[in-house]
Amino acid sequence: MSSNTANLLYLITIVTFILALRDLSNPASARRGVQIGAAGMMLAVVVTWIRIGTTSWWAIALGMLLGGGFGAVAARKVHMTAMPQMVALFNGVGGGAATLIALDELHRILPPPGAPKVDISLAIVLSALIGAISFAGSMVAFAKLQELIQGRPITYSGQQFVNGALFLAALGCGLALVSGVQQQWLLWVLVGLALLFGVLFVLPIGGADMPVVISLLNAFTGLAVAASGFELENNVLIVSGMLVGASGTLLTLMMGRAMNRSIANVLFSAFGQIQDGGAAAAAAGADGGSVRSASAEDVAVMLAYAHKVVFVPGYGLAVAQAQHDVRQLADLLEGKGVEVSYAIHPVAGRMPGHMNVLLAEANVPYDELHELDEANGEFPRTDVAVVVGANDVVNPDARNNQGSPIYGMPILNVDDAQAVVVLKRSMNPGFAGIENPLFYNPKTVMLFGDAKDSIDKLIADVKNL
Ligand code: NDP
Repeated sequence: MSSNTANLLYLITIVTFILALRDLSNPASARRGVQIGAAGMMLAVVVTWIRIGTTSWWAIALGMLLGGGFGAVAARKVHMTAMPQMVALFNGVGGGAATLIALDELHRILPPPGAPKVDISLAIVLSALIGAISFAGSMVAFAKLQELIQGRPITYSGQQFVNGALFLAALGCGLALVSGVQQQWLLWVLVGLALLFGVLFVLPIGGADMPVVISLLNAFTGLAVAASGFELENNVLIVSGMLVGASGTLLTLMMGRAMNRSIANVLFSAFGQIQDGGAAAAAAGADGGSVRSASAEDVAVMLAYAHKVVFVPGYGLAVAQAQHDVRQLADLLEGKGVEVSYAIHPVAGRMPGHMNVLLAEANVPYDELHELDEANGEFPRTDVAVVVGANDVVNPDARNNQGSPIYGMPILNVDDAQAVVVLKRSMNPGFAGIENPLFYNPKTVMLFGDAKDSIDKLIADVKNL
């Protein structure tokens, strides 16, 4: 295949990636976006395969079979709640691949008189450095979320100093390589330091902040891959790496904004460490409120005779896999003339769009999903807000308690509704590890139990009314 034909086909791939990103930004077209992106990727793989010719084709085929087989099986089997760690794993191997390409490229170029030009050695250094940090960091993120290691921040004194020193040492090796000390061992040292830095950089970050870190590491992998594109003079890698880098950066910033946290705060504040509990407990119990628990029969009556009910899904909905049951209950209520909608917080669950994906799986109409601002406008005219396994995203301390770690985070103001029903199993806190005064609000009743079981009971009781 001529180089011109290959570049033309690569251009088509690039266009498909851009179209895929556009479609992925809307739940209604997201499935098509995935298909377009996958088709573009397939085209790029086939073109690359043909260009390589017969050299080592069997080794590449074996690698693709193993990697592709693992990816396909993992993607089919993964639970929605384990999606963040799977993204971490897949993202990490991308960074690792960029590092291996850098090591291989330097090895290929180095034999005399083949010293690489400055631009190529810069690309090699960047892809090795960023790729290794992303690989090691993503593996720690995976291990934390999979509970293979402790999820809470692991901190020790002088941590920032050690991390800073490691990073500067790795950078020093990179500068030496770019400025002419072209030794393969120097790149190995750089990779070793970057791997260590990646591990130590993610260890002090709380498991709860991992999705933000994964998104940041995703952006790193994109940049590492773009640098690999410069090494290999491959336009698809350059453009797709930059697309991943840019979208990962935007997503990171948007998640930070939705939690009212700066990225520096996510990375360096060891958020999620066990607090002394005093402040949190004081916040919740300060007004001397007590918790009221209701039976499914009581709640069914509240729902069936309401004019407007808003469901507020959270992480517990995903754990209980109650999305289909919620949809069934909503249909039942709509059949009785109740107006139903869903209030979606941007960081409800454990990854951006988590609730949208779950509810789309249950075929909830998109126009019933209302985002934060729209939903908050509706609560004052809502009879019952049904909080299904959400906690932090409805915590009024984010609005009222300046001492709260989540103070300033935009929340769903469910306490503006006439009545609030909270479905959860216990009084345990959510992701941020803090108490929630909503549960002590006189408007609130708790329906304790697994969300799916509770919703099923509600369905049965509403049917009997
Ligand atoms: P939370 O983690 O605050 O609360 C979830 C609640 O679900 C828990 O209180 C738990 O209570 C309950 N629960 C768990 N399992 C079940 C079950 N089977 N049935 C019923 N209830 C259950 O979730 P939110 O969605 O409100 O908030 C998300 C949190 O994650 C926020 O703090 C956000 O900042 C953070 N986060 C989100 C990201 C994202 O992109 N979405 C990224 C990074 C962080 P109990 O154990 O008593 O049942």
